[in-house]
Formats: sequence, structure tokens, C-alpha cells
Amino acid sequence: HRTDACASSLVGRVIGEEKNLYRVQVERERVAGATISGRMSFKARSRLDYPAVGDWVECLATGDPERLVISSVVERKSLLERAEPGTRHGRQIIATNVDWIFIATSMNQDLNAGRLDRYVALAWSSGASPVIVLTKADLSSDATSVLAEIGERFIGVPVHAVSAIADDPAHVLARYLVTGKTSVIVGSSGVGKSTLVNRLLGEEILATMGIREHDGRGRHTTTSRYLFELPTGGLLIDTPGMRELQMTEDENGLEVQFDDIEELTRKCRFTDCEHRTEPGCAILQALASGEIEEERVISYGKLMREVRHQRMKTDSALREEERRKWKTIARAHRERSKLK
Ligand code: GDP
Ligand code: ZN
Repeated sequence: HRTDACASSLVGRVIGEEKNLYRVQVERERVAGATISGRMSFKARSRLDYPAVGDWVECLATGDPERLVISSVVERKSLLERAEPGTRHGRQIIATNVDWIFIATSMNQDLNAGRLDRYVALAWSSGASPVIVLTKADLSSDATSVLAEIGERFIGVPVHAVSAIADDPAHVLARYLVTGKTSVIVGSSGVGKSTLVNRLLGEEILATMGIREHDGRGRHTTTSRYLFELPTGGLLIDTPGMRELQMTEDENGLEVQFDDIEELTRKCRFTDCEHRTEPGCAILQALASGEIEEERVISYGKLMREVRHQRMKTDSALREEERRKWKTIARAHRERSKLK
């Protein structure tokens, strides 16, 4: 990354994003509004080249102390993203430079492990570590065995149960919410994310932030993101109003989450095996012997199709962009030859 060796250059962290205006924390007690430099905007190839909440950015001062210009994004340690349908590049950043990704899902009857696969896979792709948070533990008649079951399915992922009514979430999640660590919370709507965030932050912080109703409703037209400092010292990124996460073209996370299945597919006799009726299919054999669960294979197949679909879309968008670029170049060339 290029650095502007300029006396007025300073480094800060993006703590808020609304459309193209960023809020950047430059010092403990100093937050400024910021836009990106013309150069940065010109060079940007995709959404990934723009700053996002969690980013460390280099800024240039302007005449206005309340206003900065972002000149570059410092290399990211982790990047949580999702596919964004209907956009050219098809990807959207959820948060960057996070250490923990809290994946919230409700512990009531419709707890569905398959739904967690998607979030866990995206988390593994991000470079941060997933932490499963089973919410509404008070609604479960057998929280202990649910915890055990989820723990068994998601090897290497810590699992916690929390009830916003009976527990202190800050206590349950204390080991993650420490100074120097950043967390982000994701999950389908209705699972109790806002309730959890409100409890973690406490009324006072929300009041100081000028956010009365902290649940994203009423301002769902632009998905907002905020980075908060918690009373425990840790930092928390909240993404109110964000709905289901769609898989990106990155399949690394699926490889981690379903490494056993991936390994089996490499043992199928045919490299293009669809694991349906083919002879010598290792997946079908493992299913028959009970080595793997059918439900996980279905979940894997579904997410993999989503990844492939996304990749095809991105590829065609890139091809189209390339075609357009050369068309412009060719036209410019023709114009110039006419002038000669
Ligand atoms: P979000 O859409 O994920 O932000 O979910 P909310 O925080 O708005 O919660 C959805 C509903 O679940 C609300 O009616 C909450 O009061 C309720 N809820 C949240 N946490 C708990 C909990 O721990 N136990 C119970 N019983 N209800 C909860
Ligand atoms: Zn097969």
C-alpha cells in the first residue's frame, strides 16, 4: 500500500458508514466525517477497494477539522463479506479487521444447524474466528443437549448459550469482549441480535450515540454499520437491518466447514461425479455406511451451488467490463485517427 508521506496525514479507524460518508475515529476523543479522495475513487475496481467499518485508513486533513479525506485503506487482517445481488461486482463488505464473528441463532424450536453452515463457512473465509451464540436459551427445554449437538457439528467453533432475560451476555461472552479485540455480530433477523447488542452496550452508550431505537427498523433503506466501544473495553461492530447473508464466490470457508465431505469427493471414481448414481461414488458409500449425515451433504451441496452461481455471475460481470473497456479504447483510437 502506498503512503502519502505528508505531515498532515493521520491514521484512524472507520467506525461508521452511511452511503459515501464515513465516520473516522482519529484519536480517543476525536471523530471526524470523511470522504474518499478522488484518486482512490478513480482507482477503485470494486466495493472491496472502498473503506468499510473496521478499516484502518490513512487520512489527509482539510481546512475543516471536522472533515478528513481518506487516501488509502491499510491492509486488512480479516474481511467478512457477502454476495450482494443486483450489483456489478456482487460483493459487499460486512466488516473488516475483526477477531471474532458472533453468529447468533435462536435456541427455540426452529433452531436449524443447516442455517448455521452458511454463516460459519463465511466466517472461516473471512480470516476471523466464528463463535456461535445460541440466543433465547430460556425458550429451550433442553439447552445442554442442544449445546452439545451444535458443538459436535461445528468442530473448532466455540458455542455459547445466552438468554437476554436470565443471563448477563457481557459475562457469558467476556473472554471475547476484551481491549484490543473487535467482534461483529451476524444472524438472521428475529434471533435477538438487537436485544443482545443493547444489553452489551447498556442504555447509556446508545443514548450518547443518539440512537434511540436500535434495531434498524425505520432506516432499512441504507444498511448502516457501527463500531462501538463496549464498557468491557472490547469493540463491537453491529450491522442493524442486515438480512440473510449470501455466499460469495470464495469457497475456502466451505472447505473448512465441510473438510470431511470435500475429502470424500476426491475419492470418487469420476472427477465430475455428481454423487447421485455414479459407480464408485465415495459420498454415496459414506452415506450408506453412516459415516456422514445426509443433512450435512445436502447443506454442503446447496451452499456449493450458491458459490458456483456467484462465481459465474462475477466472471460474466468481469468479462462484460473488459469488453466495455476495449470498446472505449477502440473508439478513442478511431476518433484520434480521424483527427490526423
Ligand atoms: P433481531 O432482529 O435479531 O435484532 O432480534 P430482536 O433483538 O429484535 O429480538 C426479536 C424478538 O425476540 C424480540 O421480541 C425480543 O424481545 C425477543 N428476544 C430477544 N432475546 C430474547 C431472549 O433471550 N429470550 C426471549 N424469550 N426472547 C428474546
Ligand atoms: Zn461421488
